[in-house]
Amino acid sequence: MSCDFKSCCTQAGVAADAEENCRRCPVNSTGLQHMIGNTPLLEIEYQLDGRPRRLFAKYEQRNMTGSVKDRMAAWIIAKAYQLGELTPGDTIVEATSGNTGISFAAIGRALGHNVRIYMPNWMSAERVGLIRSFGAEVVPVSREDGGFVGSIERAEEYARDHDHVFLPRQFANTANIEAHEHTTGPEIERQLATRGLVADAVLAGVGTGGTIMGLQRHLKRVNPKLGAHPLEPANSPTLRTGHKVGKHRIQGISDEFIPPIVRLGELDEVIDTWDGDAILMAQGLCRDLGLGVGISSGANFLGAAQLVERHPERATIVTIFPDSNKKYLSTDLAREESPADDYLTPRIKLVSFRAIA
Ligand code: PMP
Repeated sequence: MSCDFKSCCTQAGVAADAEENCRRCPVNSTGLQHMIGNTPLLEIEYQLDGRPRRLFAKYEQRNMTGSVKDRMAAWIIAKAYQLGELTPGDTIVEATSGNTGISFAAIGRALGHNVRIYMPNWMSAERVGLIRSFGAEVVPVSREDGGFVGSIERAEEYARDHDHVFLPRQFANTANIEAHEHTTGPEIERQLATRGLVADAVLAGVGTGGTIMGLQRHLKRVNPKLGAHPLEPANSPTLRTGHKVGKHRIQGISDEFIPPIVRLGELDEVIDTWDGDAILMAQGLCRDLGLGVGISSGANFLGAAQLVERHPERATIVTIFPDSNKKYLSTDLAREESPADDYLTPRIKLVSFRAIA
């Protein structure tokens, strides 16, 4: 049995009837794998306080719906088909802060499923509009009703009360990690190898934590000394406190709790950045380099730039640009942001980038 979607079936530890299940999996028959993954790796040259610097970032807006979450959604769906947990006609029900909802809504529809999304009611209007445009039902959950955590509880409740429901459970599903371990990580390894390079450290902002956990799993096999750093907003240090603290504007990361798939013991030091700094950096990447990225991309750039300063030689530091600026045009990303004294962005001058296929 061979599956075109990077053989998730053969890697998944496999149910007895996997072959038959995989034959039913529409991910394979639609050729969806050609619309997800294999994104460019950007080598970005910049100066920090006038000194030449470089870092690498994976340009994830090139995925089917424009974000890194397509990888996770397609992988979870393919694996669920293989395990017989998802069958044609089932409704996909997920709690999400946005991009995951867009991915499941679009990919779910592409594969013939109805989709229902529970989501905090303060997420950007573009996200809600996009999810609805894919025919999915959006159920907004207010802060009083529990916000992020309330969304997860409501999704679980719906599944208990209805038949033919599949819950991807992105925060707890290890297939989320596998998506990055088996696609994003190997792509980065191959792309760096074209330059004769190996990653010294990788950094990614933590929403579910799937990206950083999966990347470190693969890239540590290539370089056992790899540094793997989760990033969170300095305004809302959930990873370092274990619970919700403060408020921040970096949509997609720091969802008020430490997700079950995150193993902080397998990761290195948590790096942080202010949300205003991330906004300024994302605006700069767009204005100065033509890279229209979202706020978490600005945050990841600043986290990676901090790691670059910790390595005396020209180390290879890699991060992710999870999505584009298009979903944030109604947010502070499209407004003037004032710099603060301890921000990094004012010390950075972006110079150029080069995309590695
Ligand atoms: N940035 C954005 C814009 C996202 O939507 C997400 C996913 N929630 C992340 C970063 C974090 O990715 P992960 O869930 O893999 O930790």
